Amino acid sequence: MNQALPPVNIEKKPPEGEMVDVMGGAARWEVKVHDHGLVALCDVMPRLVPAGKTADFAIVQAARVSYGQGTKQVSEDRGLIRYLARQRHTTPFEMVEFKFHHVMPIFVARQWIRHRTANVNEYSARYSVVPDRFYRPTPQNVRKQSTLNRQGGEEPIDPMTARQFLEYLDRAEAIYGEYEKLLEKGVSRELARIGLPLNIYTEWYWKCDLHNIFHFLSLRMDAHAQQEIRDYATAMFALIQPIVPIAAEAFADYQLGGVHLSRLEVEALRTGQPLASSNKREQAEWEQKKKSMGV
Ligand SMILES: Cc1cc2nc3c(=O)[nH]c(=O)nc-3n(C[C@H](O)[C@H](O)[C@H](O)COP(=O)(O)OP(=O)(O)OC[C@H]3O[C@@H](n4cnc5c(N)ncnc54)[C@H](O)[C@@H]3O)c2cc1C
Repeated sequence: MNQALPPVNIEKKPPEGEMVDVMGGAARWEVKVHDHGLVALCDVMPRLVPAGKTADFAIVQAARVSYGQGTKQVSEDRGLIRYLARQRHTTPFEMVEFKFHHVMPIFVARQWIRHRTANVNEYSARYSVVPDRFYRPTPQNVRKQSTLNRQGGEEPIDPMTARQFLEYLDRAEAIYGEYEKLLEKGVSRELARIGLPLNIYTEWYWKCDLHNIFHFLSLRMDAHAQQEIRDYATAMFALIQPIVPIAAEAFADYQLGGVHLSRLEVEALRTGQPLASSNKREQAEWEQKKKSMGV
């Protein structure tokens, strides 16, 4: 069905004033993570903003559609963005997008991929040979199993056990030689890869809007997240901070550095009574929150 499309008149409007590149003309901004890891900021929407503004501009522009021009008088950009963040009026934050190139070990990628709102395109180990790159914690960062958090590690383990752990990684990494030999013998890449350990690196392009990046960062910069993914989240936050300084400050003030209280916790705080819950974990969490608030 070859139907001619009707002509469309496209009007190309010039900008109202000078526009500047939020990445200062750079192709990428990179932060190295661990031994072979990388967080590279590749692109931002909006890439061009009026001179003197940052990409925060797009949040304010979208918010003013709902609040009207009237807000221009009463609230300057910073006040408006902080108000939106406090009120959890999140859609204006979705008007800013970031595209990253990440290089990370597969065990980090598995945690990361659970964040479903990003667009991801990952390296194919069916199509290409997996490069010989493995993550190894430093001996000081070989952590003991936490006694409080069943999912986590805490302070460093003794040096002798740390050495044994690193030897265990040596043996796992030695399997790479066998992987190469099996590829030479003609085993398909899609099968040869399945014996490789979780500390081998993968990479992807990852695009996400600012609202969902803040959600990701609030979970993955938190002390409950595994140290290795926290290192990546921290690098990402450092890269987006100069692009959206006002929104990043609001996020740090209201989400990252904030404490969420349950009704029971508010009641305990108000009355000075113990938490009305017999659940041990809930009580421990309340003690932790009080400590962080200096109560
Ligand atoms: C410390 C920690 C420990 C964890 N432990 C485990 C574990 O042991 N096992 C495990 O399986 N996972 C675990 N997870 C992963 C966790 O359960 C979440 O899958 C992950 O953090 C992504 O969160 P999310 O769904 O809010 O984020 P995203 O997928 O980024 O989604 C953002 C938001 O979009 C909305 N959304 C997205 N998709 C849907 C949908 N299909 N339906 C409805 N709403 C949607 C939700 O509001 C969601 O909060 C852990 C995460 C952390 C931070």
